Amino acid sequence: MIMAKNVSFLDSVNRYFDAAAPHTGLDEGLLKQIKVCNGVYQIHFPVMVDGKVQVIEAYRAQHSNHRSPTKGGIRYSNHVNQDEVVALATLMSYKCAIVDVPFGGAKGGVKINPWEYSEADLEKITRRYTTELIRHKFIGPAIDVPAPDYGTGSREMAWIYDTYRAFYPDDINAAGCVTGKPVNQNGVRGRTEATGRGVFYGIREACNNKELMDKLGLEMGIEGKTMVIQGLGNVGSYTATISQDEGEVKIVGVSEVEGAIYNADGIDIHALLRHRAHHGSILSYPDARIYGKDKRRAVMEFECDILVPAALENQIDANNAANVRAKIIAEAANGPVTADGAAILAERGVVVIPDIYLNAGGVTVSYFEWLKNLSHMRFGRLEKRFDERAYRRIVDQIEATTGKVISDRDRELIVRGGPLHT
Ligand code: GLU
Repeated sequence: MIMAKNVSFLDSVNRYFDAAAPHTGLDEGLLKQIKVCNGVYQIHFPVMVDGKVQVIEAYRAQHSNHRSPTKGGIRYSNHVNQDEVVALATLMSYKCAIVDVPFGGAKGGVKINPWEYSEADLEKITRRYTTELIRHKFIGPAIDVPAPDYGTGSREMAWIYDTYRAFYPDDINAAGCVTGKPVNQNGVRGRTEATGRGVFYGIREACNNKELMDKLGLEMGIEGKTMVIQGLGNVGSYTATISQDEGEVKIVGVSEVEGAIYNADGIDIHALLRHRAHHGSILSYPDARIYGKDKRRAVMEFECDILVPAALENQIDANNAANVRAKIIAEAANGPVTADGAAILAERGVVVIPDIYLNAGGVTVSYFEWLKNLSHMRFGRLEKRFDERAYRRIVDQIEATTGKVISDRDRELIVRGGPLHT
């Protein structure tokens, strides 16, 4: 029996590591080096807000420099602390390793509630934070490349890029200092929805696994499954809309900061998002059972096939894991299920699709953005050059194996993908 207690996020992440480490067969010293965080930079800087000086607390943690640059988002939240950014940077290292993108893990955090600041103040804070990272060499296309995370988006990434460029006007690779930028500022199409889309693909794959579905007593396929979403930020809203539109999933419950709603007959996610944009709350959405702000954690216990925690860490722990009624938990957020919570869920036969696999779509598309920034080429041209090289190799092979010489004209046609004249 596991006692209910509150453990730190970092302890929880490290306990997952300790459970997996013996299976690797690696040397103990090496495992210790993989586990520890290589460096954390803590900053306090002043910003003038409404005529008064505010001291802002911020961090950037680089968990592993084994591969460089290091990579990971920047979070704006009141909950930011050193333990949290180190835990999140650690998860980034494992995530990058799982999807094999050549980055070490990093994460940044600014301890503010971004919804309490004007756009102009957020820009001031973001630019100042970036300046501090530049001063201490915690950012750069070859050093450490931030991206959006909870409370930030393409707007903040554009400010970071612009600040960096102002410091290094002669760096031709400056655009690669940050990813998740707007498309018209050296970003790539698809990055905004990439994490949610990846979450959808991961859930769909799990639902197509016959053995798993038989074990859970569920029908094969994602279509018709019921889903509950915690958090309608970037990841939660794209996971929900793509699951409904492309997976024919029925969304039955949703929670946000103001509370939670449930309707076993289904909630149209597009209508709900429009409703919230217009009324500022999901609680006035018609025909749903309502749970106020202090009861919003009930969302974790809603009846459904798939529960998608898409907000913050430590949402399912030893205190509530026994009450979860979902059969699958899809970790769209980073670290929503604690190690204690996971042990209880495993005992109960609930399947957890882990964050470091499931939400890796964001950093995967970030990798393509970074590559594009460094290559200074449009994707089409990059692909064309790749194809031409491959065709050239094929022609060389044909010549070598047949002993025949292909004319320059035919060679050119083949390499450029045109028709072959014999
Ligand atoms: N913040 C995202 C994550 O947690 C994206 C990181 C990135 O693109 O570097 O995976």
